[in-house]
Order: sequence, then C-alpha cells, then structure tokens
Amino acid sequence: MKGLRSSLHERGQRLTPQRERVLALFEEIGAGRHLSAEDVHQRLRSTQTAVGSTSPSGGVSLATVYRTLRLLSSLELLQELELPDGGRRFELAGDAQHRHHHHLVCVRCGRTEEFEDGAVLSAGANAAEAHGFQLLECVLNVRSLCPSCAAATSP
Ligand SMILES: [Zn+2]
Ligand SMILES: [Zn+2]
Repeated sequence: MKGLRSSLHERGQRLTPQRERVLALFEEIGAGRHLSAEDVHQRLRSTQTAVGSTSPSGGVSLATVYRTLRLLSSLELLQELELPDGGRRFELAGDAQHRHHHHLVCVRCGRTEEFEDGAVLSAGANAAEAHGFQLLECVLNVRSLCPSCAAATSP
C-alpha cells in the first residue's frame, strides 16, 4: 500500500491543467461511464479551450491523452478496463465499494454494462489468501454479445 499512498501524496504536484481537464471530463460524464482514449481525445477537441501545452494543430495529441489516462489510472483517480480485443477503456475511480465492480463487455461493439457480485470478490479474496497474495483489485470482465449484436449475428 506504500506505493498507493505516495502516489496520492504526489497528486497535487502532478496534476497539470491538461490532466485536470481530462479528469474533469470524467467527472462531468459521471461514474460508470467508460471511455476509450479516442473518446476522450474527441471530447477534448470538441470542447477545446486554450490550454498551456498545445501543439501547432491547436490540440492535444492522442498519445498525450493516452499517457494522461495511464497516469491518472496509476494515481487511482481513474480505473482502467481492458477490453477483449486489447483496447482499453477508462472510467472515474469509484469509492472502495464500486472499485470491485465487474463488466459485461460486448466483443462486437464494445458496449459495457457494469454489475456487482460479492461472490466474485470473495472468490478473489479467498484465492489471494490461499496463495499469500495481497488483494488489490478483483474485477471480472465478461466477454459477451449485447442484445443488438446477438440479434444481428443470429440467422
Ligand atoms: Zn466500470
Ligand atoms: Zn454489441
């Protein structure tokens, strides 16, 4: 837990205006919404205001957005979700309770629904304990087809 604490401690110094802007974007849309780096990039462009380090094109590059998202995740301000296709989504880190929520992820369109299940958490906690591991996060991502994609693929 030492790493977590020191990163939280550094939070103040490391939140540049750009990072704050990305975080504010997530706060605006609220918890439980999952955005890709591309989504965030697009939203930043559409709500473009002058920010310190702008490139000649006037915007923030996708790579910068991605780095910012990873950083905010490492500071535990955002939560990172890995999709079945290797893509990533980011969401506002919830409270301790919400942290352990799970996702149904449609492998076709990427639609994501959250659910909670105490049994999954205790399974993770038990397994961690049995192996002497310290549980940090227990998240289940379920590969699935959403109703509309399932309807589209059935004959
Ligand atoms: Zn989620
Ligand atoms: Zn779908």
